[in-house]
Amino acid sequence: MPELPEVETTRLALLPHVEGRLVTGVNLRRPDLRWPIPDEITKLLPGQRVLGLRRRAKYLLLDLAPGSAILHLGMSGCLRVVPAAHAPGLHDHVDIGLDSGQVIRFNDPRRFGCLLWQPHGETHELLQDLGPEPLSGDFTGDYLFERSRKRTASVKTFLMDQAIVVGVGNIYAVETLFRSGIAPGRAAGRVSRERYAILAQAVKKVLRQAIKSGGTTLRDFLHPDGLPGYFRQKLFVYGREGMPCLECGHPLSGNRLGSRATVWCAHCQR
Ligand SMILES: [Zn+2]
Repeated sequence: MPELPEVETTRLALLPHVEGRLVTGVNLRRPDLRWPIPDEITKLLPGQRVLGLRRRAKYLLLDLAPGSAILHLGMSGCLRVVPAAHAPGLHDHVDIGLDSGQVIRFNDPRRFGCLLWQPHGETHELLQDLGPEPLSGDFTGDYLFERSRKRTASVKTFLMDQAIVVGVGNIYAVETLFRSGIAPGRAAGRVSRERYAILAQAVKKVLRQAIKSGGTTLRDFLHPDGLPGYFRQKLFVYGREGMPCLECGHPLSGNRLGSRATVWCAHCQR
């Protein structure tokens, strides 16, 4: 599943090809993805200039004067900019044509992604009630500490709650809790302010590293025939259940917490 770093890297890769371009047309090869594609997409986009491409959580917003097209990659989605003449493949569901002769092509085999519309000056309901961006100044250890008081849910569930902070998926939660020495099953309300400061820094560091490495693996990620995947990144615990901890050598523990695979070191994480 594309996570925040993949979405941010997609944004950075697309931006120079789309910003300032006129939309010449929209070609929908099916009427829906996860949800029906609203009429505004085909009615309002043509003839408009692309004012920018923003990211909020894992949503991309293609800004035009009347509003923004909202794109989400879902479980398997991928956005590329390719020449309009490049023949579409099986799961290439949407083309947004540009006056450069290229198209923004949305491929999504499993169709959990979406293409929606947000009128200018409004906030789509999917974007309401989202927590701060993890790389913003609003996301700090103090913030996590204040929000977590009296919470009995696990710190891992808390960290993956989009109303608390956006874009920390399962792998990033597992990895950052290991790097912070915090046991994933510990109650969120029973983690100290000092340890939340370490956790917030770990989240920022791991996401920044992933975005940075995304720049170097971009060719693979956006390859016309390639599939989106996780950026190559050193994983300390994820996928290593039963294998020796890279810090202390004890076998790593594993279970499912909130239905998502969790791995941790019972020796290093408290
Ligand atoms: Zn260990």
